[in-house]
Amino acid sequence: MRHLLLILAVALLPLALPAQQMWPTTKVHDGGPSNNRLDIVILGDGYTAGQIPLFHTHVTNFINHLLGVTPYDRYPNWINIWRVDVESAQSGADHPAPCYSNPILVNTALNSKYCTGGTQRCVTADTAISLATAFLNVPEYDKVVVLVNDPEYGGCASTIATSTAVHSAANEVITHEMGHSVFSLADEYWSNGTTYTGGELAQVNVTNQDAASIAATQTKWHSWLGIENVNAFEGGRYYQFGIWRPRNQCKMRSLGQTFCPVCREKITETLWSKVIVPDAVTPSPPGPYGSGGAFSVTLPALGNGTLVAHWLLDGQEVSQGTTTTVGNQTTYSFVPGPFLAGSLGTSNLDLVIEDDTTYYRKASPWEPLSTLSWIVTDAAPDYAVQNPSFATVPTRRGELFTITDTVINGGATGGPPIRVGYYLSTDTNITTSDRLIGFRTIPSLAPGASSTATTPCRIPIDGLSTLFNYHVGVIVDDEGAAYEQNEADNVAEVPGLPALDLSNTLSPDALLVPYGSPQTISFVFDAGAAHAGEDFYIFPSATAPGAGTDFGVFVGTAPFTFDPLSFMVTDGTLGPPFFNGFQGQLDASGQTVATLFKPALPNPGAGTTLWFFALTTATNPSDGSVSVPILSTVPILFFF
Ligand SMILES: [Zn+2]
Repeated sequence: MRHLLLILAVALLPLALPAQQMWPTTKVHDGGPSNNRLDIVILGDGYTAGQIPLFHTHVTNFINHLLGVTPYDRYPNWINIWRVDVESAQSGADHPAPCYSNPILVNTALNSKYCTGGTQRCVTADTAISLATAFLNVPEYDKVVVLVNDPEYGGCASTIATSTAVHSAANEVITHEMGHSVFSLADEYWSNGTTYTGGELAQVNVTNQDAASIAATQTKWHSWLGIENVNAFEGGRYYQFGIWRPRNQCKMRSLGQTFCPVCREKITETLWSKVIVPDAVTPSPPGPYGSGGAFSVTLPALGNGTLVAHWLLDGQEVSQGTTTTVGNQTTYSFVPGPFLAGSLGTSNLDLVIEDDTTYYRKASPWEPLSTLSWIVTDAAPDYAVQNPSFATVPTRRGELFTITDTVINGGATGGPPIRVGYYLSTDTNITTSDRLIGFRTIPSLAPGASSTATTPCRIPIDGLSTLFNYHVGVIVDDEGAAYEQNEADNVAEVPGLPALDLSNTLSPDALLVPYGSPQTISFVFDAGAAHAGEDFYIFPSATAPGAGTDFGVFVGTAPFTFDPLSFMVTDGTLGPPFFNGFQGQLDASGQTVATLFKPALPNPGAGTTLWFFALTTATNPSDGSVSVPILSTVPILFFF
């Protein structure tokens, strides 16, 4: 585990490199986009073609270990790990003289050998070949780790980290060696009887100063003194005297220990330095943008703990916004909304991301993305509805009709896509608590733009009462998607709805159908010539109606969700979606045959049956007292 100097690796460069080749390569740990992550490539050496599955096992075991080590466990998505299945002609690594009296030399792709620099446990792969192999297979790589298929204990690091993958301590050895090659940490162990007399050391976790000197000079880990058992302990970087380390124990001194706070801070700082910008910023700074939209920043998702988002308007923190994690990324977002009390103007919106951790005691290491600024304005869209009218006027329940209306954006900016809802109310106060009977959607409208459309709606079959005079109204943005300059001009009644004829009584009929295999179901209506032109409807439901009960109240009973509005889209057809039912019209002689195909259905539970209801809307009130006969090839249950 000796930390080789870079000069040694350079000295070992061969004069000519053998041709490298492509190997099967897999991103085995996906933290995010490689241009914004630390990309570690793991190469195997001394694995024959038949031992590649063993290499996969070694890599998986190592990743599971590494991502459990602090601080990797907090920042798993700051890292990508790639596996390159390098095959060797022979298994193992070289065990050369002078460390071994009976040297063993094997032919491996990366020329790994123990006894580098005369130290038996210093196993190293050929740096130049390893780097070339990594670059060829994973051009976006940052650092290389070589796992050697040899059971003898050993690991060494310089530009790359090399370790046995077979020894029981392998995963800890690799983690330690990456401390050198990826994070420039020094070994914190020593040889007895040695004294260092040189100058200050480059690595953050060793120094030639004792604790008093560190505190006096405000250098090295002075900000950690007295915290988490950090002090200055003499002995480190191979010398017993004259070099001090931060804590008595550390993974850079002994395997199985945690990283000391100073090493942990260095790893944290380096991981953050690889996430140089947010993965996404919406919208792109600086703006100006309307205050009604969402502002968001996407970063890698933490493995534990929190990043705190501070949203500030003109320097005043107003919110910590909302946090949404999907996969390996977390998005921090905020909608400023109205903040100038209706007047138009601009403000500065700042987002400060704070890594709420004790791992770091220096200034923010994530300076490039710690603050983002936009200019926001209270200029907003203003949707209003104009001139709603009935294109066709309904007169009775169950009837399909149409409304024509115009929605205009009279505001200063565009807005998000919105929905226009049509509602049936028992009074002239139209609200979203009334009954939705139709809707349309409008894409984003530019300032001054308008949208005119004629939209199908339906008077409900059920739940109506002769106690009320009904009203139909339009509500623009009834789902509240847009923040508007004026929210008070979004509602209008559609004038001219006549008193609805609710006297018609429906004649529902039910067909009981088993679950399971697909089948074709036929309904034969024979209502007699007097019923020519009547509408008929067929619906599925999971619950049978009781005698004398209005059919409509059962539509939509669990486990099926059934939107009475949606069957308008299948009027007169048998097309999908299956559960939407369909509608047709009795022919000139008052008869028709309706056929639908029932696909195989998952049974929602033992004892549950699926019902199909057929009904007609009677234009002749006298139909209320008679049943409509239905003939069918399958058993039918009738309800009146
Ligand atoms: Zn340490």
